Amino acid sequence: MAEELKGLHKYELKPLPYSMDALEPYISKEIVDVHYNGHHKGYVTGANNLIDRLNGIINNSISSYDIHGILRSLTFNINGAKLHEAYWSNMAPSGKGGGTPGGKLADLIDKQYGSFDRFKKLFTEAANSNPGTGWALLNYDTENSNLQILTIENHFMNHVAEMPALLILDEFEHAYYLQYKNKRADYINNWWNIVNWDDAEKRLEKNM
Ligand code: MN
Repeated sequence: MAEELKGLHKYELKPLPYSMDALEPYISKEIVDVHYNGHHKGYVTGANNLIDRLNGIINNSISSYDIHGILRSLTFNINGAKLHEAYWSNMAPSGKGGGTPGGKLADLIDKQYGSFDRFKKLFTEAANSNPGTGWALLNYDTENSNLQILTIENHFMNHVAEMPALLILDEFEHAYYLQYKNKRADYINNWWNIVNWDDAEKRLEKNM
C-alpha cells in the first residue's frame, strides 16, 4: 500500500495590506504593481515549483536531481517570498506611517543607539553601504534582547540565523528604479516617511 505523504508546505502570495497607490508619492503605484505582481509573486511561484520538485524526490517520482542547486534556489525564493511579505507590512499608507517608534522598540533604540536620530542615521548608512541588490534590516536577537542592524546581500548572505526581522528595506533596483532611477539614497530617505512603526513594534513584542 502506498504511503500517504503530507508533502512539504507551500507558500501563498498574501494580499497587499493597502491599495497599490497607498504609498504615493514616496513609492509609485506602478512600482508597487510590478514589484508585487511581478517580483514578489515570482518568488512565491519559484519556491512552490522547487517544493514540487522536492515532493517528487521524497515520493521517488524524480530520481535525477541536484539537491545542492535545488536547496540554494529554494533558500533564495523562500527568503524572497518572506522578506517581501515583511517589507509590505512594514510600510503604511502615506500620512499614516513615518515619524518615530513608540513602546518597547523606542526604549530599546534609545538604550542601544542613544536616540532615534542616531539609529536612523546608522540604519540609513547601512542601507546605503549595500553594494548591489539586497536588503537592510533591523533584527532582534532574542537570546540577548539586543537590536542588530544588518544588511543582506542578494537574498541569502550575511543573515544571522534565529534573529527575527523587525524592520526590512528592499534595496533591489526593482523597488525604486522606475521612479528614482539611480538615486537609491533618495528612495531610502523617502522610505522613512512610510515606515509602519506599529508593525515593527508588533514584531518585537511577538519575540520578546
Ligand atoms: Mn523586491
